[in-house]
Amino acid sequence: MTISVTKEFRSVYGPVKSWRYGRSLGIDPIGKISTCSFNCVYCQLGEIETKTATRQVFIPTTKIIADLQTFNLDDLDVITISGSGEPTLAFNLGEIIVAIKEITDKPVIVLTNGTLLSDPEVRKQLSLADRVAVKLDGVSEGMVQRIDRPVAGIELKNILAGIKTFRQGFPGFMGIQTMILTPWDDNKKRAYIDAIESISPDEVQLNTPSRPKPLKHQLEGRGNHSSAAERSYPVITFRQVDPQFIKTFGNEITSLTGIKCVFRPS
Ligand code: SF4
Repeated sequence: MTISVTKEFRSVYGPVKSWRYGRSLGIDPIGKISTCSFNCVYCQLGEIETKTATRQVFIPTTKIIADLQTFNLDDLDVITISGSGEPTLAFNLGEIIVAIKEITDKPVIVLTNGTLLSDPEVRKQLSLADRVAVKLDGVSEGMVQRIDRPVAGIELKNILAGIKTFRQGFPGFMGIQTMILTPWDDNKKRAYIDAIESISPDEVQLNTPSRPKPLKHQLEGRGNHSSAAERSYPVITFRQVDPQFIKTFGNEITSLTGIKCVFRPS
């Protein structure tokens, strides 16, 4: 007789070493099935399993807090809500942030793709975070369709409008995170700088894909994948953009907008 053992889902993982935030404990409000309103070509979770822009409670707040209480929170720099997809899809995001803040004063960061920011309730819940990093990978509808592959009905113009409205009402620290897959021409760079100027974030983070994409969804993709030697599943790796291009573009953004630009140290 075969006895199958179902491993219990852990909604808290890490700490993950983040070049930007230090020792970061991850909170996953989404769960075992990857769920997102994007399906980015480079997503480290693998192909997104449920593509949706509809919010729901995936993991009860009580489960997240019970998992969190099994960790030593003193040994961390930040707590990051991200996980197996888009965290603003979690209807209880605001409740989760409030509950985390009741047990620790470590900064709470949310990483979001920004697609739901036109919803006032999402903006209200997200505003409870200390820091928010919003993804902006494309400066044209075509780029967003090719790179981020959103669910039907999500368009760049609405994403940008939502980001700007959120920015105006958010008292915390806001970054824009951009994944650059190939060097951009002058038109793209100009359009991006214009977008950044109109959003006016506290900082811009320029990235190039450093983590592999599993062919099939792997829960491990929430954090740093293990090394190639230890990995038991096939992945796609991406060619990275020349760090010099990223650095030069970052300096250009800062000199034209006055906004700080950070990139992964090479
Ligand atoms: S990278 Fe983020 S936004 Fe893109 S598909 Fe993966 S979870 Fe969604």
